[in-house]
Amino acid sequence: MANKIQIPFLDLSAQHNSIKTDLDLRIKSALASFQFCKGREVTDFELSFANVLGVANCVATGNGTDALFLILKALGISPGHEVITPAFSWISSAEVITLSGATPIFADVDRETYTIDINDVISKITSRTKAVIAVHLYGNVADIVRLQELCKKRNLWLIEDCAQAHLSTKGGRYAGTFGVASAFSFYPTKNLGAYGDAGCVVTSDATLAEKIRRLANHGALNKDDHLIEGLNSRMDTLQAAVLLAKIPCLKEWNKKRQQHALQYFNELCQVKEIVLPNVAPDTTHTFHLFVIRTAQRDALKNYLEDAGIQTLIHYPKALINLPPYQKMTSHFPVSSKLEKEVLSLPIYPELTKEAISYVCTSIKKFYK
Ligand SMILES: *Cc1c(COP(=O)(O)O)cnc(C)c1O
Repeated sequence: MANKIQIPFLDLSAQHNSIKTDLDLRIKSALASFQFCKGREVTDFELSFANVLGVANCVATGNGTDALFLILKALGISPGHEVITPAFSWISSAEVITLSGATPIFADVDRETYTIDINDVISKITSRTKAVIAVHLYGNVADIVRLQELCKKRNLWLIEDCAQAHLSTKGGRYAGTFGVASAFSFYPTKNLGAYGDAGCVVTSDATLAEKIRRLANHGALNKDDHLIEGLNSRMDTLQAAVLLAKIPCLKEWNKKRQQHALQYFNELCQVKEIVLPNVAPDTTHTFHLFVIRTAQRDALKNYLEDAGIQTLIHYPKALINLPPYQKMTSHFPVSSKLEKEVLSLPIYPELTKEAISYVCTSIKKFYK
């Protein structure tokens, strides 16, 4: 049997090795404090991440889904309200709406950028609509300036889901600085990933930040100060220590992803059977995922797998075609097409040029 080249979709060990020295020191120090929750590292992380983004407030949370939920909760989203959210996304951006007691209303995504289609948002606004969640899918920034104007005009909250868009920009401004509040995830595979679950909310509104901080800690800011009911969604000290070791590398890692994307673009631009990612105007895409589209998606995926190349599908079902949402009746042509055509190629900072060339050569061979 031929020697199989193995190109994994993602290699977290390569990144770990590159930061190991600093990381080990930070973890050792965090362990020595025995402050496994609410340790100094958590506050340091909040200051550090707020500083990178240039936002006034960052509240660390247990994960990115909780971050979204806490924003809805703090804004008073509740039964009888509607929140508009993209039909094609990870489930978090829909399930948190149901969890808040409100009703998720899906809008289709744009056929070029795969982010929420502002025209479909407009058509879904009712007197019950309270908020719009924009998801910066795959690292590409949604049509955020126009959404900001729309939400202002229609008196709606704009919430950004930045789980896949750490340091993506629009007009030179970071994703996460346009809405009333934004949620980040630090799930291990994200562009900035912890060694377990972690997330945060960022907002320029200090009052909202304090409310979210309270809600995330059983309704208390200080011990026994339970003014309201909340939940337990804190980032633990060890995760904060990991993120502190990684934050200084994030820009460089994103740059490497962008270089890899450019190589994919250059080597694949002649293959007319595939659609390459679209970078929205005036934005920087941080390529959390490099997603191509092709009508022969499943055959190509199998072919690449035989060639030792691991690919994934984000996502095999549009949200509106998942069991919890199937009763929703509207027509979502773009989302329904994407679920059949999208394929995510390997992309991570430590990926080599040779590996990318091999992936591209294999794709070209498939279409020959
Ligand atoms: C990862 C992700 C989330 C949720 O983050 P968790 O930390 O896993 O809860 C939310 N939205 C999107 C688009 C994501 O990709």
